[in-house]
Amino acid sequence: EKYTEGLKKTRTGFASKVNNLIARYRKIDEDFFEELEEILIGADVGFDTVMELIDELKMEVKRQNTNDPSAIREIITEKFVDIYSDGQEVQSDLNIQENELTVILFVGVNGVGKTTTIGKLAHKFKADGKKVMLAAGDTFRAGAIDQLEVWGERTGVDVIKQAEGSDPAAVMYDAVRAAKSRGADILLCDTAGRLQNKVNLMNELQKVKRVIEREIPGAPHEVLLVVDATTGQNALVQAKTFKEATDVSGIVLTKLDGTAKGGIVLAIRKELGVPVKFVGLGEKMDDLQPFHAEKYAYGLFA
Ligand code: GDP
Repeated sequence: EKYTEGLKKTRTGFASKVNNLIARYRKIDEDFFEELEEILIGADVGFDTVMELIDELKMEVKRQNTNDPSAIREIITEKFVDIYSDGQEVQSDLNIQENELTVILFVGVNGVGKTTTIGKLAHKFKADGKKVMLAAGDTFRAGAIDQLEVWGERTGVDVIKQAEGSDPAAVMYDAVRAAKSRGADILLCDTAGRLQNKVNLMNELQKVKRVIEREIPGAPHEVLLVVDATTGQNALVQAKTFKEATDVSGIVLTKLDGTAKGGIVLAIRKELGVPVKFVGLGEKMDDLQPFHAEKYAYGLFA
């Protein structure tokens, strides 16, 4: 129900346009596909992805030997599931170490919901019985450390921090050491979200990663890129920049509840080849859900 509830806007936006199209056509023809193309572009699916998708939909319509517009709903849904899942049933599995510290790094520009996502995940892991700690690695943005501490208090987990303006790599060093000595299972690390030029971004993230890796070979075990679904194609541009700057192992797509254009999930998956692992469907602690391809695709038309 969380899915259906959180996707209300997308349902009434994207899905209702598709439903309306289906209602207006008696059979599937070129005009039908042209309108569908516009709807998909308007839903932030992204031009290249739309072109491929339309070709694939045309092929599937031919293969099914149908010209019934209402068949398109199921065809689109299944195509979406294919793309989202990319052959894997579950995308949200994180690389969690057994009986060892797991370090997860969060990257993404300011305001996308990074801190909130860290808080929500802290809550989730704690509920699973894990000992969680947070690292306040965004030493740049005023208020970022305080905000992380609020989440620390809210979820009852320790936050390792230094003064604003200090070296993020030094914070990470402290945090990893502290997490190891206190026997933590999971360390969730915030990073600075200013989107400077790519070289700076790359250098800063690499420095942070190197410090972590030196303390724990193989860490960070996940690098999750947080992107804001409401920023549409801009989210895709950001995602590409970060992917070029560092190895991103998964995407957290936030504020999906706030957009009527759910198509960005598709564009990110197809153009970046990185799985969407979690989606944010609201501001509350339990509004972070593992991304589930089928639930999402079927939720669009539910
Ligand atoms: P940061 O700068 O990336 O750390 O962003 P924040 O975590 O401070 O989040 C920015 C704003 O987005 C806050 O008001 C959050 O409550 C809000 N937010 C984060 N995730 C979601 C989400 O999934 N849905 C909605 N509706 N709001 C969200």
